[in-house]
Amino acid sequence: MKLLNVNNPATEELITQLPIDDGAGVAIKAQKARTAQPAWAATPLVQRRACIQTFRALVEKELDDLARTMTLETGKPLAHSRNELNGFLGRIDFFLSQAESVLQTQTVFNQDGMCEQIEHIPLGVIGNISAWNYPWFVGGNVFVPALLMGNAVLYKPSEFAPMTGLAMARLLHAAGVPQDVFAALIGAADTGNALLAQALDGMFFTGSLATGQHIANVMGPRMTKLQLELGGKDPTYVCADADPVTAAQSLADGAMYNAGQSCCSVERVYVHASVHDRFVQALLETVRSFKMGDPLAADTYLGPLTRAPQLQVLEAQVADALAKGARCLLGGQRAVGPFGGRGNWFNATVFDQVDHSMALMREESFGPILGIQKVDDDAQAVRWMNDTAYGLTAGVYTPDEAHARAVLSQVRAGTVYWNCCDRVSPRLPWSGWGHSGMGLTLSREGLATFTRPKAWHLRSV
Ligand code: NAD
Repeated sequence: MKLLNVNNPATEELITQLPIDDGAGVAIKAQKARTAQPAWAATPLVQRRACIQTFRALVEKELDDLARTMTLETGKPLAHSRNELNGFLGRIDFFLSQAESVLQTQTVFNQDGMCEQIEHIPLGVIGNISAWNYPWFVGGNVFVPALLMGNAVLYKPSEFAPMTGLAMARLLHAAGVPQDVFAALIGAADTGNALLAQALDGMFFTGSLATGQHIANVMGPRMTKLQLELGGKDPTYVCADADPVTAAQSLADGAMYNAGQSCCSVERVYVHASVHDRFVQALLETVRSFKMGDPLAADTYLGPLTRAPQLQVLEAQVADALAKGARCLLGGQRAVGPFGGRGNWFNATVFDQVDHSMALMREESFGPILGIQKVDDDAQAVRWMNDTAYGLTAGVYTPDEAHARAVLSQVRAGTVYWNCCDRVSPRLPWSGWGHSGMGLTLSREGLATFTRPKAWHLRSV
């Protein structure tokens, strides 16, 4: 049996080795899920909800241990891991509160003996291939509503967060979700491809554009529901009338939180020339205050990158920006880190005088690096913000709501922010435009997406 090495990205130490689900193993779990799903769908919603409610209680009870596990395998600072788990509890509460009304059959017309109804039927067996950066959030956005709606879930956590994936399975099973209704599949691309080879009723993917395109190629001809939540190159515009200090403090966090490894990290800032210098000064002050350190230490803000190859991506973006005339104001290279040079450490990095010829302003960085570009007016800001194939989030800082609305209504992105950033709400749909993906999670629609509608035309005689 092949084993997956799980390493600590902060220290490079081997944490554990886990058995990999190979093609035959994945096929067996998929067959078992197929057999088990109808009984789960027939289980009254009140019982499915009770399972998820118990799961929530178990996550809350084990929160400290679960946070530590996530921190060990991803390098996410412990405080950020705890934030994620607490936020996840809130998302479960939202899904629990909405499941019944979303699943209810709707009568949309009833007149002169003709009745029209919409029934919501679970998709069946769904696959979920997931990312490591917020494993509880992005995994839970799929498996919690999918299970509530009556689906079986084959969940492939990232190979960089597999212990968290196994913890999810253990707690769901302990909460009463049948073994075969939720299965974790351990492994990397081979396991993901083995999952794609199964008969699925839906494929839900969170990860990079490149893998998303591969999955779309494989799944396209199969006529199976496909959702892709991909990357971003999220812009923000700081207007002339914004308080540059408040905006800088907010955006520094939006860019550097979780070492910039958020799909909705702020990666580009356009600042009106009149507030540029004060903005940059405040941003640098804030970023310098972020403490790099052992991810397990309570006061650490900046941890390592989870994936070592991303260090080279950042170095290439830095070299390209420097060669094209950008000014590096902070960082710009790997950091020694708190473990004597071991681990995937990169200094918080800020550039200004950037432009759109540079990879730093065009390609997802997924690290603690930010580009700042001066603009003269709204039109220029909107043009630059839209100069991307991605469209996940975008923001504007100004005290004037009408001004913010006027700018944001011109920006192509699934989520827009006024005076805030890097924020996700369970009540709102999370969807990318363009290369940021297709489909959505969260909100009431993020429950309905795990069902298919059946239209009933009923004439009484
Ligand atoms: P990734 O594409 O490398 O991996 C994602 C998953 O796909 C992993 O489970 C991996 O094992 C699997 N995989 C890789 N190659 C595969 C293949 N050929 N066939 C089948 N499965 C395969 O992405 P990542 O590094 O895990 O995640 C980072 C990316 O995810 C970033 O681009 C980030 O922006 C994006 N992301 C998006 C959202 C969102 O909501 N839009 C949320 C989190 C992360």
